[in-house]
Amino acid sequence: MNIKNYINAEFVNPIDEKYLDNYNPSIGKVYGQIPNSSKEDVETAYRAAAKAFPKWSATSLEERSKILSKIAYLILGKLDVLAEAESKDNGKPISLAKSVDIPRAASNFQFFANAITQFSSEAHESVGFNAVNFTLRQPIGVVGCISPWNLPLYLFTWKIAPAMAAGNCVVAKPSEITPMTAFLLGEICNEAGLPKGVLNIVHGLGTTTGQAIVAHPNIKAISFTGGTKTGAHIASIAAPMFKKLSLELGGKNPNIIFADCDYEKMLATTVRSSFSNQGQICLCGSRILIEEKIYDQFKKDFIKKVKQLNVDHPSKSNSDIGALVSKEHLEKIESYIEIAENEGGKIVCGGLEVTIPGFENGYYFQPTIIEVTDNSCRVNQEEIFGPVVTIMSFKTDEEALILANDTKYGLSSTIWTNNLNRTMQFSKQLQTGIVWVNTWMLRDLRTPFGGIKDSGVGREGGFEALRFFTEPKNVCIKFPS
Ligand code: NDP
Repeated sequence: MNIKNYINAEFVNPIDEKYLDNYNPSIGKVYGQIPNSSKEDVETAYRAAAKAFPKWSATSLEERSKILSKIAYLILGKLDVLAEAESKDNGKPISLAKSVDIPRAASNFQFFANAITQFSSEAHESVGFNAVNFTLRQPIGVVGCISPWNLPLYLFTWKIAPAMAAGNCVVAKPSEITPMTAFLLGEICNEAGLPKGVLNIVHGLGTTTGQAIVAHPNIKAISFTGGTKTGAHIASIAAPMFKKLSLELGGKNPNIIFADCDYEKMLATTVRSSFSNQGQICLCGSRILIEEKIYDQFKKDFIKKVKQLNVDHPSKSNSDIGALVSKEHLEKIESYIEIAENEGGKIVCGGLEVTIPGFENGYYFQPTIIEVTDNSCRVNQEEIFGPVVTIMSFKTDEEALILANDTKYGLSSTIWTNNLNRTMQFSKQLQTGIVWVNTWMLRDLRTPFGGIKDSGVGREGGFEALRFFTEPKNVCIKFPS
């Protein structure tokens, strides 16, 4: 299926008529073409957005909220179609797309449809000066949203929903590797009555289309989710233009397991936090740190459970692990297995490519566990972003904390313990934007979401996102005494 850009509520070909191949990773074959959009396409999208802005920003909150709710409703109505499209584009099991990705895309719209009606700003009475100050929160104008391939519609909508709810018009680019559901969203937006130009979706390469969005002088805010290196590059372009930036970047998240935890719950959740979505979630706990007294038991039980995971074509209902997103990504994962072995890591489970009969050209890889003893090894320091985790033991709380924080990343961490003092100590001292205790990826959309250190700047979620997508203005009114 060939897809088009969505500009001014119309589906249009790229101006240069240049296209890129779109792969189905579960069979390793091209199944469609997508626009390879140029700077001129981004300019056209920008103009449509700029034209729509005065009216959209003046549209009542109730009306904006109603349209966003309708989009949420229509997404759920097309759950099967969207889940199939997501799975085909990305390689993830359909069951996962159906239970997580697409429902969450609908929730993103519904959440911000509600949140915008509750959003408020501060007022300060300047006692003694006969004045009152209030903060006017105004939409920025045209904003840019750029999202990655791992949770395509989920992360795309996580940005565009608050941007539009706050009254902005958007030029957005999904990952060129997984553009299909964003394309399908265009039809849904039209059906929901979203005015033309409020959302414009331009497909293409990060280095051309994405770059053109970031470098556009009149797109004054960029919300980006992706790799740390790309984030640094984007910041270097946006900073001299003083753009507002929200950067959600990579992670190397510790999963810290203490002997006093609820063992069975921890084990089941750790399998999920390691390998959900083929381990391609920025929040996956890729460094598992285990208290020494339960290390051998954990290693044995974890390997046993991981070996039961079924690597299979994503359309199969019993597929736990589908295909990796691309051939390049599969090769990257394989290179890390070699790196681990060269550095003395021991592959205790998996480590090999999988050939699925009937789908021999798909990109499948075994869930892999690497036993390491030194946290400075590359597999413990670099983001692999695939079905690969490391296990390592620690003796004391102090050691666990040092190991957990010994990384340039700071996105999320998980602790398994029933000790309240330890929970509080770790929650305070872990250098991550999110700390999960006795759970993983339990998301409440009102909470601030994002990382510290090389995992990014800014927070998404809840009112944080609405604050990002608005400019605060102080208005000071003096009144007679
Ligand atoms: P990339 O950084 O390669 O790409 C992300 C998006 O940016 C894509 O749409 C990409 O386009 C685009 N892009 C690439 N180069 C540029 C550029 N120079 N200017 C503007 N846009 C550009 O990340 P991946 O898609 O590989 O995603 C995986 C990464 O995302 C991992 O590091 C993961 O940790 C991170 N991530 C972070 C999350 C968080 O919330 N912190 C959540 C999910 C993922 P194209 O696809 O065409 O290259």
